[in-house]
Amino acid sequence: MMRARADPEQQRGRGAEDVADISRCPLTAAAGAIMFAGMNQQNVSITKDQAGRLIGAAGPGLVDLQVNGYFGFDFNSPLEQITGEGLRRACEAMRRRGVVTILATLTTDAVSRMVARLSRLVELRREDELAASIIAGFHVEGPLISPNDGPRGAHPAEYTVTPADEPDLLERFQAAAEGMVRLLTLAPELPGALELIEKATAAGMVVGLGHHEAPPEIIDSAVRAGARVCTHLGNGSHAMLPRLDNYVQRQLADDRLAAGFIADGHHIPFPTLKNFLRAKQPQRSVLVTDAVAAADMPPGRHGVGRRSRQLDTDGAVRLAGTPYLAGSALTLDRAVLNVARHCDVSFETAWAMASTQPAELAGLPEPGGITVDISEEGFQLRQ
Ligand SMILES: [Zn+2]
Repeated sequence: MMRARADPEQQRGRGAEDVADISRCPLTAAAGAIMFAGMNQQNVSITKDQAGRLIGAAGPGLVDLQVNGYFGFDFNSPLEQITGEGLRRACEAMRRRGVVTILATLTTDAVSRMVARLSRLVELRREDELAASIIAGFHVEGPLISPNDGPRGAHPAEYTVTPADEPDLLERFQAAAEGMVRLLTLAPELPGALELIEKATAAGMVVGLGHHEAPPEIIDSAVRAGARVCTHLGNGSHAMLPRLDNYVQRQLADDRLAAGFIADGHHIPFPTLKNFLRAKQPQRSVLVTDAVAAADMPPGRHGVGRRSRQLDTDGAVRLAGTPYLAGSALTLDRAVLNVARHCDVSFETAWAMASTQPAELAGLPEPGGITVDISEEGFQLRQ
């Protein structure tokens, strides 16, 4: 699905003018660079009003590889709160904004509880046609992440584990998910992680690097073992890093890695996201929301207990009572508009970063087409 860039050696010998073209220098292109095919497909058509404002568009449906919850529903809540009704409402709300496919995302908790949630969600999905069509699989983000403050982000330290501690974790998750874990985010510096990356990749999963603090040689080894994407690059990291050489810069520079970005303006300020997208290139980038139950809801407190989140009036979602971001209230249509407005990326390209490209990255079918009206509020599915 993902193509390696053409070997620069093969592009030589096309005439004298090419010899002088420094862009063809083999030293400038990394072997094995990821480049999504979807970028080259001109498959988004737009409608503007007489004043030149964008008011509608048609193209492939939106695909979100990182959704923890939505519209009051939380994939990570206690089992008794994971109801078919809540799931249905969340799916309907996503659909109204043009989202056709997601990976339901489970985050760090006791392994037994994560396993139980996967089983429950598989069961609910089987009973609901809309949920079955939208939830194409699962993204398991944790518990195989850094236990350290900073890279751990808002995940609870007490439930982080290493692949060496839990050698049969992947099998337990896949058995509960009936083989539908598509994306596995982990910290590659953990004991046993590189072997697990090989195993997961061989089993057809996509491995993302996230919530980690890996040194350059481990990042390189992880890529060689099969890792293909940086999970919400820039986030799940230390607040302070060496300014010119750090794991964020190393991953930005590695063309063998695609990257997901949370384009809400809170997780990454837009000027920084613009720099990141120029470094990683739109054709190696996907937009994700990392949405929680507060997404598409009014400001206020959402969720209960340890999962309690405050959606502030500035649009940021914080762990209740703390300044720490804990997921987002971003919707994927708004992510497309944000990137097109603030990051010097065309609307059509931003759309590809939130539709065909994430589908390709996760090995999902080409998303079905949508037609939407567009306003300040975002997309509204037309039909
Ligand atoms: Zn995360």
